[in-house]
Amino acid sequence: MSLRDLYQEQILDHNRNPRNYGSLEAPARRAEGFNPLCGDKVTITVRVNDGILEEIRFEGKGCAISTASASMMTQAVRGRQIMECEKLFRAFHEMVTGRECPVESERTLGALALFGGVREFPARVKCATLAWHTLQAALHENAAVVSTE
Ligand code: ZN
Repeated sequence: MSLRDLYQEQILDHNRNPRNYGSLEAPARRAEGFNPLCGDKVTITVRVNDGILEEIRFEGKGCAISTASASMMTQAVRGRQIMECEKLFRAFHEMVTGRECPVESERTLGALALFGGVREFPARVKCATLAWHTLQAALHENAAVVSTE
């Protein structure tokens, strides 16, 4: 697999036109993430109600992988129960760091399975997981600052 294969059309599209871009007004929960290895920065704001992630926005500046990953993540988790978001996070993390992706995870991940190729490029793994770690922080430690280092 070449690095070029990683940049599939859907990833490039999300990078050009990020979905759910922006930020939610207080009292939304918020966290900032930084990946010093690549220079990616992302801020996630979420509104949680009754165990459901009702609304999510992200903003930031980073490489195509980090932006596309954040954009696709917001689409994947929006409107879901927090428990399901956690499950997605674990499946995603397993996929990009593991040697192989269990079929079951691939089914859970849906469109996010596109990022599976990242595991072959260790330097890109942190780009792909930054938004997810930042979302975790926003859900569990409000106003947190996360660094992948
Ligand atoms: Zn990056």
